[in-house]
Amino acid sequence: MKDLEELREEIDTIDKQLVALFEKRMEAVLDVAKYKIKNSIPILNAEREKQVIEKNIRILKNKEFSNAVEDFFKSVMSISRNLEAHNMPDDKNIGKQSNIENFEPKIEDNVKIEADKTQTKSTLFGLIGEKLGHSISPAIHSKLYKILGMNAVYELFEIEKKKLEVNFKALIANGVKGLNVTIPYKVDIIKYLDEISVEADKIGAVNTICFKNGKVIGHNTDYHGFGKMLEKNNIPVKNKKIVVLGAGGAAKAVIQYFIDNNAKDILLVSRDKKKAAENFKGTKIIDYDELKALEQGDVIVNCTPCGMYPKTEISPVDENCIGKFSSAVDLIYNPKETLFLKYAKEKGIKAVNGLYMLVGQAIAAEELWNDSTIDENIVDKIYQELL
Ligand code: NAP
Repeated sequence: MKDLEELREEIDTIDKQLVALFEKRMEAVLDVAKYKIKNSIPILNAEREKQVIEKNIRILKNKEFSNAVEDFFKSVMSISRNLEAHNMPDDKNIGKQSNIENFEPKIEDNVKIEADKTQTKSTLFGLIGEKLGHSISPAIHSKLYKILGMNAVYELFEIEKKKLEVNFKALIANGVKGLNVTIPYKVDIIKYLDEISVEADKIGAVNTICFKNGKVIGHNTDYHGFGKMLEKNNIPVKNKKIVVLGAGGAAKAVIQYFIDNNAKDILLVSRDKKKAAENFKGTKIIDYDELKALEQGDVIVNCTPCGMYPKTEISPVDENCIGKFSSAVDLIYNPKETLFLKYAKEKGIKAVNGLYMLVGQAIAAEELWNDSTIDENIVDKIYQELL
């Protein structure tokens, strides 16, 4: 058997060849970018990327490396797309925004489809919920389509409670390629799906729907967005003492994330312990008086709507309580600094709002819809623009 030194030398030689080939590939990518600019072709071609992965897995001698090769090409193509995007002049970078030609909605009248039907047919994504006037999701997704040069449009579909099923099915019949789901349908939508992902199943709520191989599949990307936000802000979870405020839908994804990432102690704070216990089986639940008696914790997360615009003058807990923690996270992103986060800053502890989570969950949904990975720099860029 070769010794470690020899093995390392062998790897160094292979790396040299890899770098030379990588450089060649990036030069070819720049030529592709020029061609795309000239011919107004969008950067992302999910079908082509899928074929590249399949083709390269086919030529593998050792099929045990199939998953690794898939990951490798996803990264290489993500880097390539990023390079293409950086080399597009701004106006070409935009790609062709929206819209839907020949889109004949068979949808009930109450679903708003505000697409301008004058341009070429593009891929339709969207958000379903009851009241969506406040949503900034179209802005996030449009920024992504602009960066990637995708010919896609993201619409808001307001649906009345009693018409959820008929309108959801009509959207599918009209060829929608992916949907996000928000209040109050994250649980109700599950009964119309063929499958749900492991994390959505554990959380009991779906915020993203994909259509794959004739199946309607639900996921929960709030979970991923929350995780990305903690990672971005260097907030460790493992073995930490966590307090989550508010036993609602968002808390479900947040608590599941903490469980899956080995938090030591998770306390859920609710105004109604009995009701919370029914929805959060196996979670320790306390009320706000009991929280006052807590001596110390690591992370406190506000999953209540307290402090959200327009009622910005309230906080779910006071500054003495927040001062017992090392980090305070508020899922609210409007305003950027809630009273809860203002208290945290005054106490000199880390204060993080929910905007990165919002962008993170949106990008995670796009990755699922387009079967691709999106560079973290793009998440950061969109986040910075929204800030
Ligand atoms: P929700 O289900 O309507 O409410 C969450 C919980 O907050 C309620 O179940 C309730 O828990 C508590 N609560 C409600 N009103 C309260 C009040 N006046 N005082 C104290 N507690 C109160 O909402 P959600 O869907 O979980 O969302 C919660 C917050 O997270 C919202 O502000 C939402 O915008 C935000 N959010 C952000 C993101 C993101 O990407 N950044 C994603 C999802 C949600 P108890 O009855 O148990 O006390």
